[in-house]
Amino acid sequence: MKVPCYQCGKPAVLDGLCAKCYDETHPLIEVKTPLTLLSCKRCGSVKIPGGWKKLSDMSTDTGDLWLHQVDILLDSEVKPLVRNVELTVEEEKRLDRVLHITLSALGKSHEDLPPHIEHYPVEIRFSYGTCDTCGMMSGGYYESTLQIRADGRSLTDEEEDDIVRIVTEMTVAQYGSDDKAFVTKISSDKYGMDFQIGSEQLCRSIADVLEAQYLAQRKQNYKLVGQEKGGKDKFRTTILIRLPRFGVGDFVRVLGNPCQVVAMNKSGLTCFDLVQRQQFTMNSKSSKWRTLEYMASKDERREFMVTTRVYGQPTQIMDSKTFEIREIQETLLSKDIETGATVYGLILDDDFFLLPSE
Ligand SMILES: [Zn+2]
Ligand SMILES: [Zn+2]
Repeated sequence: MKVPCYQCGKPAVLDGLCAKCYDETHPLIEVKTPLTLLSCKRCGSVKIPGGWKKLSDMSTDTGDLWLHQVDILLDSEVKPLVRNVELTVEEEKRLDRVLHITLSALGKSHEDLPPHIEHYPVEIRFSYGTCDTCGMMSGGYYESTLQIRADGRSLTDEEEDDIVRIVTEMTVAQYGSDDKAFVTKISSDKYGMDFQIGSEQLCRSIADVLEAQYLAQRKQNYKLVGQEKGGKDKFRTTILIRLPRFGVGDFVRVLGNPCQVVAMNKSGLTCFDLVQRQQFTMNSKSSKWRTLEYMASKDERREFMVTTRVYGQPTQIMDSKTFEIREIQETLLSKDIETGATVYGLILDDDFFLLPSE
């Protein structure tokens, strides 16, 4: 014989209450109404306690911006009273600056009871402002300058494109978690590129990546630019990244031998020794590195056509520009290279060096 619910008289199941009365006295969530949604008029970020919550890339692509903003607001305003509550939002009425929604919560008020749904009418009032990031950006705020130069030459278009891509990707990746992850100014001239970056930390991490990727030199300077509110000195950092004179495809000398740069990245500089006919990788700590010197640009590379290729005889090749014919050792070329094929070489003091195929 079950005890009757002390509220309604139906059979009780928990704490002297029937399921319905238990649910009614133990709500799944707590939410206030009306709520104010303060968002940034430039980027749509939503003000929540402790800062501004940025919208993800995905949500800014879709038309229902407000839906994502309401989600962010509810995320910080709705207090779940039990675990595993599922929330859904339904628009009831939308006026210019006021939105009426029904917030539905699905869950169990007690693990021994079946799940149920609760509906809460919530009024959301929209107001608009400027978030910290947009405020700083529009004011031209920056903590650091990143300067990219190259040793004794200009940056190549390829390098410029790559560097802009790296800076952009790293800034976007930090955007959600760092209020100062933005670039206020990019300038580019014959000497190189300058980036004015909001966050010093972001600037340092971009410099780390570029330094490693291009085996570049790095210099850091601080300049006193004023005082913070507390009277502490405020510095602005300039990080100079100087790319080496050579890039991929260029010619260098290592241990006195002419080499072609095949790759450069975090793990070091990979070269093909044109005399030894073999590839090697070194980093700035290796003893070979100290003998490294720039020799010639990749533009010095010449194109040749194989004109005669007969087993047991020197191979004849013809310079595609000067039509000059020269003979090279047949063993230099791999077996699959036949008459008519194109090969590349470097002429140094009238010596021919066959370049590795690409
Ligand atoms: Zn009851
Ligand atoms: Zn904003």
